[in-house]
Amino acid sequence: RVVVGTKVDEHHQNYVLAYNMLGGIRFCVSRVQAKIERELTEADFLSSSKHALGMNGDELTPSSKYDYKFKDYAPWVFRQIRTAFGIDPADYLVSLTAKYILSELGSPGKSGSFFYFSRDYKYIIKTIHHAENKFLRKILPDYYNYVLENPNTLLSQFYGLHRVKLPYGKKVHFVIMNNLFPPHRDIHRTFDLKGSTIGRDFREVDLEKNPRATLKDLNWLRRNLHLEFGPTKKEAFVAQMQKDVALLQRLKIMDYSMLVGIHDLERGNEENLRDKTLQVFQPGGSKAEEPQMRALARTPSKLEHAARARQLRETVNRERPVPMAQTIDKLPDESHRKSFYFYADEGGFRATHEDDHNGEEIYYLGIIDCLTRYNFVKKAEHFWKGMGGHESQISPIPPERYGERFIRFISGVTMSREQAGKVRFSNALH
Ligand code: ATP
Ligand code: CA
Ligand code: CA
Repeated sequence: RVVVGTKVDEHHQNYVLAYNMLGGIRFCVSRVQAKIERELTEADFLSSSKHALGMNGDELTPSSKYDYKFKDYAPWVFRQIRTAFGIDPADYLVSLTAKYILSELGSPGKSGSFFYFSRDYKYIIKTIHHAENKFLRKILPDYYNYVLENPNTLLSQFYGLHRVKLPYGKKVHFVIMNNLFPPHRDIHRTFDLKGSTIGRDFREVDLEKNPRATLKDLNWLRRNLHLEFGPTKKEAFVAQMQKDVALLQRLKIMDYSMLVGIHDLERGNEENLRDKTLQVFQPGGSKAEEPQMRALARTPSKLEHAARARQLRETVNRERPVPMAQTIDKLPDESHRKSFYFYADEGGFRATHEDDHNGEEIYYLGIIDCLTRYNFVKKAEHFWKGMGGHESQISPIPPERYGERFIRFISGVTMSREQAGKVRFSNALH
């Protein structure tokens, strides 16, 4: 969705990186999907496979414009995770297989990570630090078990973990995850909420320059906003959040936030934020070749690996540009999400009134940035900051309390419009 972001074309400084990331994903995903399903073993969680991809493609390796090395972490585990989240392997390949990623959101956070959207906005590629990569591998068995038992989790859905090594030796680690925001709906306001107040204020005057900015806790409170859910949805939402946070606490994770995108149904898509000038490149050019991609992903056991590689290469080499405006309306197929409670209303979670009837907004929300471990650095920071203000105002507090504060804040602002009105009224009386 998102107008923000720059198209990654030949002239973009990260073009080679993006190109290689996609080439590697295409290669690795079709490789693992080509095999007959089997039970996971403990070794699958630790395994990784390295591939030299490049200009001299052979029967097994589709050729690429550049030479690079690509590492695929725990391919079998992520294959299962994708299945658990209802990701169709063919859709996944089709979305990510374009040689050109459509847009880059250059490092919106302080961490230095880069974000890339797949051409249909369904997936986000986030570059991560080596430490985050190591950490995700370490917690992968816990994460895996958890998401299989809790398909309705609000946590970031990790679909793949990879590393690309560029010719001059630079290693870039990245994850592929769900884009919480829909391709087909304007998001009128975005908030990143942690339940902290320190440094959690986006300067309101800067909103004029950047009306789509992601706002924070203090901006939320200043507007007296609520996640407007009637009793049924509130209960389900808070219960899921508590479960999710309990996992994060157990894994000693902190610094995560609840990302909330609000779509106001009355305003609809009037602003039409979609950038019509954006052009994307589709592999194989069109719907016409999609069946081929689907065959590649779906009936693998019978296909010879070499034949698959050749077919894939042919498909990919035939790419041609398709204007964004023509493709986007066909792309937002959120049907796979229908069975996931918090993403069932057009990819989001519809607001409800006190009587549980539908409200005026759709919320697109989830818990993001959950790969920061409460480590030595954070402890040191806690020590120094702890000398000053009150703990509830300091962000780097230990995971237990971070989680409690997070739950308190988010559940505290979750209430129907009617209930919020009453609260305001009773506050005014005191
Ligand atoms: P920092 O550590 O400084 O907070 P970061 O680089 O780790 O930054 P995140 O906090 O993961 O970045 O995300 C930064 C912003 O990117 C979010 O506030 C949100 O606007 C957007 N974003 C991140 N993940 C998603 C997602 N899954 N769906 C939609 N938008 C996302
Ligand atoms: Ca963050
Ligand atoms: Ca981070």
